Amino acid sequence: MQPTASRLHLGNYEGALKNWVRLQNEYEMFCFVADWHALTTMIEKTENIRENSLRVAADFLAAGIDPEKSTVFLQSAVKEHAELYVLFSMVTPLGWLERVPTFKENREKLSGEAEASHGLLGYPVLQAVDILIYKPYGVPVGKDQVPHLEITREIARRFNYLFGDVFPEIQNVLSDTPLLMGTDGRKMSKTYGNTIDLFETDEETTKKIKTAYTDPLKIHKNDPGHPEGCSVFALHAVYNKPNAAVVEKECRAGERGCVSCKQECTSALLETLAPLRKRRQEIESDPRSVENALKKGAERAREVASQTLVEVRKAMKLS
Ligand code: AMP
Repeated sequence: MQPTASRLHLGNYEGALKNWVRLQNEYEMFCFVADWHALTTMIEKTENIRENSLRVAADFLAAGIDPEKSTVFLQSAVKEHAELYVLFSMVTPLGWLERVPTFKENREKLSGEAEASHGLLGYPVLQAVDILIYKPYGVPVGKDQVPHLEITREIARRFNYLFGDVFPEIQNVLSDTPLLMGTDGRKMSKTYGNTIDLFETDEETTKKIKTAYTDPLKIHKNDPGHPEGCSVFALHAVYNKPNAAVVEKECRAGERGCVSCKQECTSALLETLAPLRKRRQEIESDPRSVENALKKGAERAREVASQTLVEVRKAMKLS
């Protein structure tokens, strides 16, 4: 997760973070805040990156990541990522990077005279490093990230072809909700301004659901509705699971109005988020707990990353 100015939203939570929390009981997890990655788009606003990074790490802990089970760290605290980045950048053909659709999109988004940097072009190489340096089984991400993982696999294959088998073929690990809809019916994304944020206030969440997009053909309470395109039903399906079938049936039959449907959805959502939001406030008053988790995590991450680099240097016949 990148430490941008905006907060983690329910899409980030449902697509990735919730799965991390679940998986930490079965696997060793490496969960990091990608602060170097933030430089690709925030090079003129670096003063907030540290504060934002600590905030994202606190969000991880509040969401249930347990630093006793999982390795939580800042990318910039593990300098081994930078060494492998140099080596991978020699292995990666330029054409692969120029063809990445997000490079083209981000380049177009750059304002005014700003030129795309070498770092922006090399972003997928750094992402491949972040993943492969821990030689993982898989990467738990949302559906939108699946194409990005393909280039990581290609870099690993090319390295292995040139220097022998060092890196595994990583798997995509998707959650039950790999793509959550935002309040306007499109993918939930900070770019669209349609997010419900994991750690906003209950009042903010309530207000957003009140004005959320529903079936435009359902004008009166008794009109039959179409839950499939409704952003409120998408939330019912996740946060009001036991009643989702009834909600769907009543909506289709014209037996439920959108106002009460939104109220029911809001209550279910706030109830689910209450323990996380409470824990977030507790962590706020104990910032040392976050710093300690990050320190311990960086030590463990360095242990694994430096071992991978020993193997890489040996495979490449470097000293
Ligand atoms: P981002 O902040 O877009 O880099 O996303 C961080 C993580 O959240 C990635 O694993 C994304 O795939 C996941 N994610 C972002 N938006 C959504 C969404 N609307 N639904 C499911 N997962 C998402």
